[in-house]
Amino acid sequence: MSQTIFTVLLVITIAIFAWSASRVIRILMLTRKAYPVKELGERFKLTIVNAIFQERIFRNRIAGIMHALVFWGFCVILLGSIEMVIDGVLGTERILAFMGPFYNFMMAAGDISAYVIAVFVVVFIIRRAWLNIGRLHGKELSAINHADAFFALTFIFILMITLAGLNIFYVAGHPDYVGSYPVSALIAPMFAEMSPKGITLLHDINWWVHIVLIFVFANVLPYSKHFHIFMSVPNVFFSRLSPLGKMYTMEEITKEVRMMMNPETAFAAADPGEQPPSRFGILDGEDITWKNYIDSLACTQCGRCSAVCPANMTGKELSPRKMMIDIRRRMREKGPHLLKEGKGYSDQKALIRDYITPEEIWACTTCNACARECPLNIDQPTFILDLRRYLVMEESAAPAQLNAIFANIENNGAPWQVSQQDRMKWAEG
Ligand code: SF4
Ligand code: SF4
Repeated sequence: MSQTIFTVLLVITIAIFAWSASRVIRILMLTRKAYPVKELGERFKLTIVNAIFQERIFRNRIAGIMHALVFWGFCVILLGSIEMVIDGVLGTERILAFMGPFYNFMMAAGDISAYVIAVFVVVFIIRRAWLNIGRLHGKELSAINHADAFFALTFIFILMITLAGLNIFYVAGHPDYVGSYPVSALIAPMFAEMSPKGITLLHDINWWVHIVLIFVFANVLPYSKHFHIFMSVPNVFFSRLSPLGKMYTMEEITKEVRMMMNPETAFAAADPGEQPPSRFGILDGEDITWKNYIDSLACTQCGRCSAVCPANMTGKELSPRKMMIDIRRRMREKGPHLLKEGKGYSDQKALIRDYITPEEIWACTTCNACARECPLNIDQPTFILDLRRYLVMEESAAPAQLNAIFANIENNGAPWQVSQQDRMKWAEG
C-alpha cells in the first residue's frame, strides 16, 4: 500500500516538474542567440572552480564557508535521497548499502551535513531577519522576495531535521544498522527506553515528511529564487569566456559598416534564410538572449553585485541585482503569452520603462564590478549595454551629452567638435 502511495506521489512530482521545466525550455527556445558555446575544456574547468569549489563565494570568508558547506552537504545528501526514492518504489530499506565503504562514507558525510546545514540555516535566518546586512535588503526586493527566502530556508531546515530524525530512529530501531551515522548514533541511545513500535512510527513519520517535502520543494523551486539550486551549475558552464568589458559587436551593424566600406557588397545576394533584424538591442522579453534568460533564472538575489556597484553605492537608481529580478519577472509575466501567441504578442508593456527606467540604464559605468563579483558569473553589463543599444538605435533617446558626441562622430569622424581639416592644428602649437 505505502509503495503504491509513494509511486503515485513520485509520478505526480515528476509530471509537474517536467511541465514546469518544459515551459522554461520552451521560453528559452524563443530567446535570441548570444554566443556560440565552444571551448568545452575551459568551461568544465570554470564549472569545477566556480560552481563546485565555489571560488567566488569565499571572497566573503565567513558567509562563504557556510554557503559552501551547505552546497557540498546537499551534494552528499543527494545519494541518500536517491536511495529513499528507490526504497520507496521497491519497498526495500537502505538498498544502496551494497556499496560498502563508499556507502558508509556518504551516509556519514550526509549525517554530519544534516546537522551542520540545520545550524547554518538558523544562522542564515537570523542574519536575514535581524542583522542589518545591506546587500540582503535592497529596495528592489519586495515582500514576496523576502518571504520566498524565508520560506526556502524554513523548508531546508525541516528537511535537515527530518533527515536527522530518520537517521536517529533508524539507528535506534536497528542494532545491526547499515551505513555510518556519527552524530545520529550519539543521539539514538537517548531513545533506548522507547518501545520498538514507537521508534518505528517516529522513523516512518520523519521518512515520509522528508521525502514528501523534497517532492514539494522540487516543484516550488522553478517559481522561487531558489531555482538557482538547479540553474547555478549550468549557468557557470555557459559563462561568457571573453574578457569582461569587451563589448560584442552587433552582426547587423557590422554588416552595414562593411557595406559602407565596400558598397559593391551592398548589392550581393543575402544569405539564404537571413532575416532582417526585428529590433536593435533589447526593449522587452522577446529581445533578450538565452544567456540573459538563464542568468535571471540562476540569480540568487544575494546582492553581491549591487554591493560593489559604484552607481548603486553613490545613490543612483541602478542595481544590477534588480536587472536580473526584472528579467525574471517580465519573462514570468510575458513568457507564457509569447509561447501561446508568438513573438508578436503585446500587452502594451515593456522591460524598458515599465520595469527598468532609462535613468537606471544610463547610470551604469560599465565597470563590470558586478559581473566580476557575481558567484554565478552572471553578465549584467552586457544586458544593460543592449538596453542602451535599443534606446540609441531605435529611439535616438541617448542623454544630451552623448547625442553631441554621436553628432561629432557622424560629422567629424571623431568625438570632438573639430572638423577633419582642423584635426592636426593642435600639433602646430
Ligand atoms: S557595470 Fe554597471 S551595473 Fe555593473 S557594477 Fe559597474 S556600474 Fe554597476
Ligand atoms: S546577479 Fe549574481 S551577484 Fe547579483 S544578486 Fe544575482 S547571483 Fe547575486
